[in-house]
Amino acid sequence: MNVEMTSDGPYGSLEAKGKIRRTTKSRTVTIYYNYKILPVDFLVVDPERVRKYCIGCPAYGKKWSCPPDCNIIPGGYKRIFLFWLWIDAKDFGGVKNKEYIKVRAMNAILVSLSNQIGRVMTIMLVGHLLASGSCKVCKTCSYPEKCHLPDRFYQSLESTGIDLVRTMRKLNFDLCWYGKRKKEQNYTHGTVIGGVLTNLDEGSEYFDKLIKSFDIKPKEKSLDAWA
Ligand code: SF4
Repeated sequence: MNVEMTSDGPYGSLEAKGKIRRTTKSRTVTIYYNYKILPVDFLVVDPERVRKYCIGCPAYGKKWSCPPDCNIIPGGYKRIFLFWLWIDAKDFGGVKNKEYIKVRAMNAILVSLSNQIGRVMTIMLVGHLLASGSCKVCKTCSYPEKCHLPDRFYQSLESTGIDLVRTMRKLNFDLCWYGKRKKEQNYTHGTVIGGVLTNLDEGSEYFDKLIKSFDIKPKEKSLDAWA
């Protein structure tokens, strides 16, 4: 199924398999999604290049899920169920002031949804979750002491060394980056990517049902807080 946010313009193909709506206190946003079951070697892995972007982040060297001490991509899995969710920046047209507020708002909605879906898909696919963002299971990470909850620990795709820009380009989907110093922002869509490493060759039907179960649920933080 194709839905209307489809473009082959300068930001690559935004072809979606489907969409859901999420209602916040102040607005309704449309979340588009797509996914693919891919062999693990489809992923572009370049830890040296990718992990250097983590230097300077407040979580760098402070969490088990973050470089320099986090795991590289775990072995023993043949496939990855890769899924990506995005919001058209136009849905935040009324948000006042800085572009960065829109980026944060989109990110807050998408990360929460992506990680909830990722956790359930990981159980379904008897897999290993590669989520979005650093592990936030505990209020304070035990690093450098032993991880408190290794069964619930997760890390991001990027922290394993996966180059998401190049991987997503292979799927004809360009990521949109927010640049603080750019005078004119051209932030057309906000995207969050999740993945489950697995040995199964399935998950599409379950994913479709699962994401639909998140349609219109007013749980997210009000965007008023960001505006
Ligand atoms: S589960 Fe807790 S201790 Fe382990 S990496 Fe996550 S936040 Fe840190």
